[in-house]
Amino acid sequence: MNPRDPILPGATVGILGGGQLARMLALAAKPMGYRVAILDPDADCPASSVADVVVAGDFGDAGALAEFAQACNVVTLEFENVPAGGLSLLEGLLPVRPGRRVLETLRDRVSEKSFVNACGVETAPWAPVRVEGDLETAARLGFPAILKTATLGYDGKGQARVNNLEELRAAWTRFGVPCILEGLVDFALEVSVIVARSASLETAVFPVFENAHRNGILDTTLVPARVSGEVSARAQAIALELATRLEVIGLVCVECFVTGDGRVLVNELAPRPHNSGHATIEACRTSQFEQAIRAVCGLPLGSVDLHATGAMANLLGDLWTNGEPRWTAALETGAKLHLYGKREARPGRKMGHLTALGDDALETVQKARATLVER
Ligand code: AMP
Repeated sequence: MNPRDPILPGATVGILGGGQLARMLALAAKPMGYRVAILDPDADCPASSVADVVVAGDFGDAGALAEFAQACNVVTLEFENVPAGGLSLLEGLLPVRPGRRVLETLRDRVSEKSFVNACGVETAPWAPVRVEGDLETAARLGFPAILKTATLGYDGKGQARVNNLEELRAAWTRFGVPCILEGLVDFALEVSVIVARSASLETAVFPVFENAHRNGILDTTLVPARVSGEVSARAQAIALELATRLEVIGLVCVECFVTGDGRVLVNELAPRPHNSGHATIEACRTSQFEQAIRAVCGLPLGSVDLHATGAMANLLGDLWTNGEPRWTAALETGAKLHLYGKREARPGRKMGHLTALGDDALETVQKARATLVER
């Protein structure tokens, strides 16, 4: 098969991981006529209820991977920490998009930031802290700074703010794994840009998302971001350049800091649909999920034009603390509800999100979310 040949409707798209991103990918693939197969350790994962095939197994389990590959024509993924051995096994059998090389570049913050800087793109100042002897060299970045584990960090996990060498040493000892130290960026705004790059090498860049975090977890997104046309164009150009240099097939989300004087610094990259892109389901002609399916299947990419200003508010498990949230009251605000079908609500766990369109979209989703817990 020529890698640029489209994988047409009727084929089966395999997704590594069965969480909410896989569920929304499946929900976009099905109306286009694709079948969906999921590989996840949990047979009851959020994507299981909308998939055609669910293989319950570990991502490193050769038997499960072979059974999954048998069911699929192409494989994509919803999270980047798939073991290299599992990816190699799959790549020997069918197209995996994005592939192992992209994931290896982005899996580790050292190789990720080295790649970004090698593309001539600015990041926060950083230094690796792999061994004890690196601590003093890294401390030359100055304080306050943020120590981050080099791998497996997400939603602010594996991060510690440190104010001096003693705190740095203590945090590094506590993590007990290779880390990087990053200078604190005095940003005005956090934004992200999602780029799709298809198997036929077509690219499309979504409008810029403006993100607000709470406790290291994405809280709300507004699209388009409230930045100047110049800053927005710069963020999009950086994201497109990184996606092209990575040679990603699928999506890549580039998270950035925007400083008060309009500099755009890249924080991190995710080679998959991203929480900050959820508003595209209602706000864009083509959602990030449909675009991902088009990209990995080598179909023409869809328009990313906005219908209207859009906003998204995450619903974390904390909202269930005092009982079931008041869904009917929240929907009366005009917001749209997306729930991921997770059975257990735990604090900090992403259970769903709300979206709204229009000039007051951000206020609407915030109001709708507040309404959920009003008694
Ligand atoms: P990360 O896991 O790297 O995406 O970080 C989670 C959040 O922590 C970011 O979205 C920022 O709000 C904050 N953060 C991370 N790195 C920095 C930094 N170098 N300077 C300031 N804030 C940061």
